[in-house]
Amino acid sequence: MSFQWPQRLQLATRPTPLQPLARLSKTLGGPRIWIKRDDLTGNMLSGNKVRKLEFILAEAIDKGCDSIVTCGGIQSNHCRATAFAGAQLGLKVHLVLRGEPMALDGNSLLDKLAGADITYHPQAHFSEKLDDYLQSAADQLKADGYHKPCIIPTGGSNGTGVWGYFSAAEELKRDCERLGLSPRFITSATGSGGTQAGLSLGCAYFDMPASVLSFAVCDSEAWFQQKVTADIDDFYERYEHRLSAKPEVSIHTNDAYIGEGYAKAGPEVLATIHRVAREEGILLDPVYTGKAFHGLINEISAGTLGKEGDIIFVHTGGSFGVFPFRDAFNQVVT
Ligand SMILES: *Cc1c(COP(=O)(O)O)cnc(C)c1O
Repeated sequence: MSFQWPQRLQLATRPTPLQPLARLSKTLGGPRIWIKRDDLTGNMLSGNKVRKLEFILAEAIDKGCDSIVTCGGIQSNHCRATAFAGAQLGLKVHLVLRGEPMALDGNSLLDKLAGADITYHPQAHFSEKLDDYLQSAADQLKADGYHKPCIIPTGGSNGTGVWGYFSAAEELKRDCERLGLSPRFITSATGSGGTQAGLSLGCAYFDMPASVLSFAVCDSEAWFQQKVTADIDDFYERYEHRLSAKPEVSIHTNDAYIGEGYAKAGPEVLATIHRVAREEGILLDPVYTGKAFHGLINEISAGTLGKEGDIIFVHTGGSFGVFPFRDAFNQVVT
């Protein structure tokens, strides 16, 4: 299926490898698990967010923006990737973070090293007040002499950000052709919905037989249904003229593995991270990929995903997120 690219920067290292998890697949006794190494999209730009930023920042620069405001949790991978991409492109970055200021660690330490300004806002009522926080950060940038701040939503999940995983779906299709795979499922973590939106739309558009199954790390299945639909609608509104078809997209979310909430990982998730590091030499993170992968192997063990064929897990990054969990890991790493 052909389409016309919008503007795009080259920020990510692409294509990323698609590798088998041979030992783990064997011990689980289920389908073969493959891992799409989007943790290798870069060093500081590591993870899924840089794929979205290639399109979002291209558009921002085209509009004449000289500075960026975005938001997330204290340990947001999206904010860290934006801070480093901004430094690389000469754009000032201001981050609006959810939570109380604490000692710099993991991603928040990296944000500061990349020269981002940070304001912290209490968790309570954060989402209702977010627009005001973003606007006052933009006003502050103007007061500091920047002419045109651009506001990027949580996780870079909007119609423009959808291009990131729409194009990753095309990349995956080529990976599968090369390796002779016909995966039954393409799985990943979902948080702000943009990765799920891009993968779900892209797999439908590029006619992949796989169904996209996303493991929620926060919020309910119903929330993701609504959010992913909204991101895809926004994408169509802005870019439908670039596509040659408008496929039916089905959205599948599993919300059974959130545990106590966003950025809270129970000992079972940390044990899975330990297991995958030990058995496969791959590092997952407590907030997103560890939780989602824990869900995936549980579903495989329960037999709900069948016993045969191939399943792809998209490793969306997040490695720096292990460090703020050092104390909790002390309990499970023996
Ligand atoms: C943001 C993030 C996700 C979720 O992606 P969304 O597009 O926000 O749903 C998954 N994994 C990691 C490591 C992330 O940083």
